[in-house]
Amino acid sequence: MKYLTDEPMSAHTTMRVGGCADRLIMIDTQEELTEQLAICRREGVPFVVIGRGSNLLVSDDGFRGTVICTAGGFCGIREEGPASIDAENGDGAAGSSGTSLRVSFWAEAGASLAAVAAWARDHELTGMEFAAGIPGTVGGGIRMNAGAYGGELGQVTVRVRVLTADGTVRDRTAEEMDFSYRHSVVQENGEIVLSALFALERGERGAIAARMEELAEKRRDKQPLEYPSAGSTWKRPEGSFAAKLIEEAGCKGLSVGDAQISEKHAGFLINRGQANAADIRKLMTMVEQRVLDQSGVKLTPEIEMIGSF
Ligand SMILES: Cc1cc2nc3c(=O)[nH]c(=O)nc-3n(C[C@H](O)[C@H](O)[C@H](O)COP(=O)(O)OP(=O)(O)OC[C@H]3O[C@@H](n4cnc5c(N)ncnc54)[C@H](O)[C@@H]3O)c2cc1C
Repeated sequence: MKYLTDEPMSAHTTMRVGGCADRLIMIDTQEELTEQLAICRREGVPFVVIGRGSNLLVSDDGFRGTVICTAGGFCGIREEGPASIDAENGDGAAGSSGTSLRVSFWAEAGASLAAVAAWARDHELTGMEFAAGIPGTVGGGIRMNAGAYGGELGQVTVRVRVLTADGTVRDRTAEEMDFSYRHSVVQENGEIVLSALFALERGERGAIAARMEELAEKRRDKQPLEYPSAGSTWKRPEGSFAAKLIEEAGCKGLSVGDAQISEKHAGFLINRGQANAADIRKLMTMVEQRVLDQSGVKLTPEIEMIGSF
């Protein structure tokens, strides 16, 4: 476990902005995570659990309290074994139907989705290819029901082990997780994801690797991966695409300081170097207003904000 004080959050977010957290604790095990959370709760210290900070905007004033970071050490992946999973009886991955023979495995909250996808490929398991290019962790990914190219974590999740507000460890079924587009129940109940049990079908390693490379190529082609960002800044509105509406509202390339709506993909708000959180927040507000005026659609941020704005 690593304990840091006055730690700049710009070093722990893919947007590369954010002031200092009073404390940042990098945990390596479930025991350390539960212990640190118990201390925060007992002492009334505000806390937030983060993964790789790839969906976060942290205030320039930082965070008054403790940030607990799972990315790094708390990243084990272990096979549970072949399982006959009966979706009809509420023990199957959301979206699956009937009974099928799958292989299931647990991944800890801090495991990167890239590592989980690579592990699945190396074990000849298909269904996780979509997640290989999502730069987050299992914990952040489950909370957001991260997804891409037609796949979502909710589709391959059987159970999620969580820590409840009273410090109890419990397993939630995929159904109880209430997965929907970029949503899971932990957004409402504040539970902390400890690990997730995924179930995948047997596949062929070469085909899995080829699909992962195809999707990586699509990302390189369409997304401004050369700049810091937090991915898609806004959720996909019903019946449309945020990037399309932003472009139609004339916001492509719009900037505040070094914060800019990417010229390559208008759904991405990028940091061209020296942007701060205030610039980013101001640009977000401008874009939301212009899109509302132009199309009548209210964009909802996908990125989550920490600290005061
Ligand atoms: C270049 C780029 C591309 C991206 N592409 C995609 C994409 O294709 N699809 C997609 O869905 N997302 C995408 N994202 C966004 C992001 O990677 C995902 O939302 C990811 O799931 C966030 O995981 P994280 O570990 O970084 O979470 P963080 O950003 O660290 O945290 C996000 C939220 O989850 C909470 N959280 C973190 N860990 C836990 C835990 N263990 N228990 C409970 N809550 C927790 C945090 O408190 C916070 O509220 C992209 C981001 C970037 C930068």
